[in-house]
Amino acid sequence: MYIRTRNIAGGTLMTCKDCGHAISVNKICESPIQAATDMLKHMAAHNASRAFAAVEPVMRPEAEAIIPVN
Ligand SMILES: [Zn+2]
Repeated sequence: MYIRTRNIAGGTLMTCKDCGHAISVNKICESPIQAATDMLKHMAAHNASRAFAAVEPVMRPEAEAIIPVN
């Protein structure tokens, strides 16, 4: 998730709350579609790593016990 912040030079930035990655609003104004794509891709990367973290605990060794062995 990006939040709007200001840097010491008075520029406005969109900063990623999760990792601090920042995109200047000037850059967003210059190429809004490119900037929006970059931000969406960036957030998708965070979401993917979170989804993986949520799925991981399900993969326990006990799962092998339900596989029928003849
Ligand atoms: Zn980030």
